[in-house]
Amino acid sequence: MKQLTKTDFISYQEYLGGCPNNVWIKWHKLEEYKKFPKSEFEQSLGVTGTEVEEIARLMFPDGYLVKGRGDGAQGLTKKLIAEHHQVIFQAVFSTDKYLAATDVLKWNTEADAYDLYEIKMSSTTKQEESENEDDEEDENGKPKKVNKKKELQYEYDLTFQVNVLEMCNVHIHKKYLIQLNKKYKRSGDLDVRLGQLFTDEDKTESVEKRMVEVKEKMEEAFAYLSKTTMPVGHCSCYYKGRKAHCTTFSISNPGLPDYTVHDLNRIGLSKKYLRDLLNEGILEIGKVPEDDRLKPKKVKEGEKSGKPRKLNQVRVYKSKKEIMDLDAIKAELNSLTFPLYFLDYETYPSAIPLFDVYHPYQNIVFQYSLHVLTEDDAKKGREPKHYECLLLDGDPAEKIVESLRKNIGDTGSIISWFKKFENSRNKELADMVPGQFEFLHGVIKRTYDLMDIVENQYYVHRGFKGSSSIKKVQDVLAPQYSYKKLIDVQNGTDAIEAYRQILKGELSGKALEEKKEHMLKYCKYDTAVMYEIWKFFYDLVNASKPQK
Ligand code: SF4
Repeated sequence: MKQLTKTDFISYQEYLGGCPNNVWIKWHKLEEYKKFPKSEFEQSLGVTGTEVEEIARLMFPDGYLVKGRGDGAQGLTKKLIAEHHQVIFQAVFSTDKYLAATDVLKWNTEADAYDLYEIKMSSTTKQEESENEDDEEDENGKPKKVNKKKELQYEYDLTFQVNVLEMCNVHIHKKYLIQLNKKYKRSGDLDVRLGQLFTDEDKTESVEKRMVEVKEKMEEAFAYLSKTTMPVGHCSCYYKGRKAHCTTFSISNPGLPDYTVHDLNRIGLSKKYLRDLLNEGILEIGKVPEDDRLKPKKVKEGEKSGKPRKLNQVRVYKSKKEIMDLDAIKAELNSLTFPLYFLDYETYPSAIPLFDVYHPYQNIVFQYSLHVLTEDDAKKGREPKHYECLLLDGDPAEKIVESLRKNIGDTGSIISWFKKFENSRNKELADMVPGQFEFLHGVIKRTYDLMDIVENQYYVHRGFKGSSSIKKVQDVLAPQYSYKKLIDVQNGTDAIEAYRQILKGELSGKALEEKKEHMLKYCKYDTAVMYEIWKFFYDLVNASKPQK
């Protein structure tokens, strides 16, 4: 009989962002579930988690590592527990329904019981602003705060383990959560003491309060997942926006077209409207009525009104004609100064700081691509010049800024897509390379976000499908640069994984050279695409000039 693990238990809990259907498919239709492969990056998260755990174990000397999850590991765990072994890593406990492996058990002589430590690869900063252009925003266009469900999730995670251990007659005294400390800055060797790279939090009280509640939920999850027939009807994401859907949406909701009301811009924030549309039988974008519900909410006097994003999305779909505000596009382009610098970074958010001055999860800027276009080039229809830099050896901060400084002059606009990301990196680089503080803050001031033209609805195309992500816009305005044509490195997460593989020495010889080539090509694509999109708008505006 299949046993419920804490991962499946947490993945099952809807209010923690999980889904019973999804786990059911994993339990009973594994082949179909596997058809939606995890990206290399998702796989690497597991690797990163293991690395964090291995480093955290250094805080517990003389620990015994139990390997595997099977009968041998369970038998060894029983033996170590009976001997009151001082520290046990990955002890495995099993009942007929549940399976739990504990990160660290430490014998507490005074309490005559073990203390439990759960190691998480997350950092201790609870609220951070999103830096992902695809993340949902609120109706005013401000990024949503990262949710606080994580805290509850960790408590459930710990409580699941304690319940299983209790069922196996192992009493736990204190329950701790260990996380990376985002305030820690590396200086020399990693300082793995508590309060430095890691922090701990005593969760004993919260866990004890949740024991009964979690036990009931464990029973419920096990009963649901053990059913051999697939849950009938649409899954609950049917009433949620596209961004909430998991990869198995099409299994749970067969027969739906690709482009539906789930794709309406920010529909996830208008739950009632989405539910009403679906209950009215309106599934296709082309059938959405242009009533008040589609328009931006009325605002109070003095407040800025929202953009009619959903309305425009539906209109361009139905009419098959773009919406364009040429005056506004012209004003945006006229605000730029030549030469134009199309700039894009690739970064690696390392959980464990790899170099001095970095903190956990700080992005390492290891690569950039830059296309530079002079006014003369633009007028004569010449292609921009290209510069690039890829640094795979040691801390790249100083060298990358030096290289940028060489290729970016004192005047001219710098163009990014979702500039918040690039500028956050520029700020961090300015702190790390104080000699270039002024230059980098100048870059920040000179950076223009080309996404604004799409985001502000100055140009809306049905092919954007309500999104302003560069990939969607590129599909329409620069189709010759399809990312699908790229080999191996096709997106930012592939680039992250490529950097990780090189850093860990997993590639050598021809494979290493090829990987570098693919990384360079991908980053070059990003700035080439930006240039093509700029050129599209530039030509559009110039073609519309009144004839003399
Ligand atoms: S799409 Fe369906 S199966 Fe997937 S998470 Fe949502 S509710 Fe669950």
